[in-house]
Amino acid sequence: MASLAARTLRPLARAVATTSTRAPLSRTAFPRAARSARCLSTTPARRSDSSDFDLSSLEPTPIFHLSETEAAMAEAVNKFANEEILPKVREMDEAEKMDPSIVEKLFEQGLMGVEIPEKYGGAGMNFTSAIVGIEELARVDPSVSVMCDVHNTLVNTAIIKYASEELKKKWLPKLATNTVGSFCLSEPASGSDAFAMKTRAEKLPNGGYKINGSKMWITNSMEADFFIVFANLDPSKGYKGITAFVMDKSTPGFSIAKKEKKLGIKASSTCVLNFDDVEVEAGALLGEEGQGYKYAISLLNEGRIGIAAQMTGLALGAFENAAKYVWNDRKQFGTLVGEFQGMQHQIAQAWVELTAARALVYNAARKKEAGQDFVRDAAMAKLYASQVAGKVSGQAIEWMGGMGFVREGLAEKFWRDSKIGQIYEGTSNIQLQTIAKSLQKDYTQ
Ligand SMILES: Cc1cc2nc3c(=O)[nH]c(=O)nc-3n(C[C@H](O)[C@H](O)[C@H](O)COP(=O)(O)OP(=O)(O)OC[C@H]3O[C@@H](n4cnc5c(N)ncnc54)[C@H](O)[C@@H]3O)c2cc1C
Repeated sequence: MASLAARTLRPLARAVATTSTRAPLSRTAFPRAARSARCLSTTPARRSDSSDFDLSSLEPTPIFHLSETEAAMAEAVNKFANEEILPKVREMDEAEKMDPSIVEKLFEQGLMGVEIPEKYGGAGMNFTSAIVGIEELARVDPSVSVMCDVHNTLVNTAIIKYASEELKKKWLPKLATNTVGSFCLSEPASGSDAFAMKTRAEKLPNGGYKINGSKMWITNSMEADFFIVFANLDPSKGYKGITAFVMDKSTPGFSIAKKEKKLGIKASSTCVLNFDDVEVEAGALLGEEGQGYKYAISLLNEGRIGIAAQMTGLALGAFENAAKYVWNDRKQFGTLVGEFQGMQHQIAQAWVELTAARALVYNAARKKEAGQDFVRDAAMAKLYASQVAGKVSGQAIEWMGGMGFVREGLAEKFWRDSKIGQIYEGTSNIQLQTIAKSLQKDYTQ
């Protein structure tokens, strides 16, 4: 297959560049689709403009309205996922391993540098384009989707937002073209209470840092060459000592201690990492000392919209797989099983819930791009999308009867893959806590 990047994403990147908000936006000179793509984009140059932009002057559009660029992204990723990933999904799940050729193709297609500015070799697209890509990938394989999600929404965003120019020049071109990244926050003793981490960093006389400790549950770590690592540089300050560093896989003292065997998203690697006297240079500091907790909170708030999109993509994939079967293939009592009213009502209810979950996801993404407070929206999107993904993918198995239960098709895999949505990047209880806290703030007099 010809490179999607050459055929679609690169041209798309150019389209985004030509409609960017480098100059103040003329609200009459552009069609509405182009206008919304411009004011809602998130590359740094545009982000500074967005908070000044008066959204009230825009005509309302349906929440699922995509800019031309985003719609082309959805179509291109859908085609890529069906042609290139689908034939390998079952094999990768059984082998519990990501096929290296898929990783290579994700880079070739430009899907690993969606928001990386073009000057660093990325596609220079907006956040919603990344969300659209993550959703379309999950519709076929949630494991490939999470690789792309963590790399784009956590790792690349961390570098784009917080790294020195030197680090950006060194790493962004690689992250866009050939180097997978991991985000290392969780530890054996600190999951939901992430800032109780035990990993320590110590400042060395040469200005560098020495890191000691262990990280657990780290996505992409088998494939990754680049790691963002959180460690406490000054435990006397509590969470305000938490500092973020970057390092590559070859750094002495770094090792992968164990690869987990999991219920779902089996092709996505999840490992325990050890850091034994790992020494990094002063330049490996990400942002400022003691700011790591702020970076982690902010990145995870954005990242949750990505996980929510992974879950709506998964639910859509499970739904479509079953809908095609019940309305085309399977007859009982002389009738297609999808024509029984008992089935129709369940299918219709599932579609309503799926559509509601997608509305939460796209609303959160648009609010983030518009520079509005989106923390509660991201938590609601992740909470609900993961609940819907579990419910719809479970029902889809029932709609297919025995054929949904066997490992020949993908129905059972979608259901196994759905469970993780209620756990990573903050469990469902943690999302509920975030939602309740923000509501309490609004209603406290
Ligand atoms: C496949 C996979 C991939 C992952 N990838 C990454 C990664 O790339 N990088 C990374 O840093 N981490 C990653 N994680 C870690 C993930 O973010 C944590 O597993 C998650 O935050 C939950 O932490 P925990 O597993 O320690 O559960 P715990 O925090 O021990 O929670 C156990 C239960 O207690 C509940 N609970 C905890 N605190 C509260 C509270 N205050 N109120 C109510 N209920 C509470 C939880 O909701 C949960 O039901 C991954 C995890 C998995 C399984």
